[in-house]
Amino acid sequence: MNRGKDDSVRKKGCSKPLTPGAAAGGCAFDGAKIVLQPITDVAHLIHAPLACEGNSWDNRGTASSGPTLWRTSFTTDLTELDVVMGHGERKLFKAIREIKETYAPPAIFVYSTCVTALIGDDIEAVCRRAAEKFGLPVVPVNAPGFAGSKNLGNKLAGEALLDHVIGTAEPDDAGPYDINILGEFNLSGEFWLVKPLLDRLGIRVRACIPGDARYRDIASAHRARAAMMVCSTALINLARKMEELWDIPFFEGSFYGITDTSQSLRQVAELLVKKGADPEILQRTEALIAEQEAIAWKKLAAYRPRLQGKRVLLNTGGVKAWSVAHALMEIGVEIVGTSTKKSTAEDKERIKQILKDDNHIFESMRPSDLYDFLAERKADIMLSGGRTQFVALKAKTPWLDINQERHHPYAGYDGMVELVRQIDLALHNPIWSAVREPAPWECQPAIEEGVPSAHSDTEAFQLSRPSSALSPVASASIGES
Ligand code: SF4
Repeated sequence: MNRGKDDSVRKKGCSKPLTPGAAAGGCAFDGAKIVLQPITDVAHLIHAPLACEGNSWDNRGTASSGPTLWRTSFTTDLTELDVVMGHGERKLFKAIREIKETYAPPAIFVYSTCVTALIGDDIEAVCRRAAEKFGLPVVPVNAPGFAGSKNLGNKLAGEALLDHVIGTAEPDDAGPYDINILGEFNLSGEFWLVKPLLDRLGIRVRACIPGDARYRDIASAHRARAAMMVCSTALINLARKMEELWDIPFFEGSFYGITDTSQSLRQVAELLVKKGADPEILQRTEALIAEQEAIAWKKLAAYRPRLQGKRVLLNTGGVKAWSVAHALMEIGVEIVGTSTKKSTAEDKERIKQILKDDNHIFESMRPSDLYDFLAERKADIMLSGGRTQFVALKAKTPWLDINQERHHPYAGYDGMVELVRQIDLALHNPIWSAVREPAPWECQPAIEEGVPSAHSDTEAFQLSRPSSALSPVASASIGES
């Protein structure tokens, strides 16, 4: 890429200082691993020194309904000696053999990383040789960290699936109601709140990529009739290429919020009808939507008066910048800001349509600006990922995790009720009124200089406690003195 630049631009790039903390966003390897690791029955082997796997293992709360092999950490653990002596490829081959003999997985994914790519280990050749020798798919994932950002890694993972997995198995039960769900990670098992709806419509999820996926499902994903793209940044290239190669039409949708969930179900049914399914599915879908919406709105009614007019700062980016914003606005919450970090141009367009006010849209906020925003009480709660939680806590502002480490499922109708319940719990937690009261030493009267008595610290503490925080006994003792 550098060859296309003139000298001045090239030099500028070299001298550009790194943004402190930028690496925390993850490297390309990390991005590839995020996309592929939720394939649960596959062994994920990291060809690298130990730290690459140590840094990326278990960084998302995706869930499996069966196999647990994906939770086992495999790495070739390359040392300096291996690098100097050129033992990398041999060690990789031995590791593949060991995994095959010990775990007998349906496939092994082999990830290259900075060190092994720099020393020139040819993981494609090793994978090819191992696949022939051991008679199982060994998939090279060529996304070394230095190749680029986490987003690029997501795309490279999609390429690996296209090049080596999808289309390699023929299902014997393909039908007119088969769909693929792309970019759904099943965080905290949230796809399990949506799948029963599809089951009721008789729609089969041939492959959910990657959440709770099995290798064989992905290998036969090319026989689906339609696809839904859930997270637009991660696997959009995969959706486009599957449309090109196997004529699988797709749409971008969201399962966050009542309206978006209903709309997504509608679009799935419409696409299937276009591809030959019986049009009666459209009526069944409408009936299901009406039933589920009525149940969800009834559950949400209890929260509406408690949340009406509450101001939410959404500091997450990507597809959630619009999907969660839209979901929350449905229950009367005001969005005072939403970050467009990592959002695509289409995501940004949707945010503008939903918020109808550019002033509430920001690319990203510096932690100090974020702190000021929250400390000035311009928002009642911040929804974000774990990285900014301490800014909110320092500003004594309620905070809720809506990124990958979250512990609650928020997709579908039931997920929306859960999200609202969690916001309500966070907002009305009594801790906030307690921590916003002045600390004892902030309202302590100036202590006369001199020799303090043995109990002076305790007395000063009792005197300084604000009256609202005192127990009746403590109040009485101060009154008496
Ligand atoms: S692949 Fe490279 S950037 Fe990524 S964790 Fe390993 S050494 Fe670090």
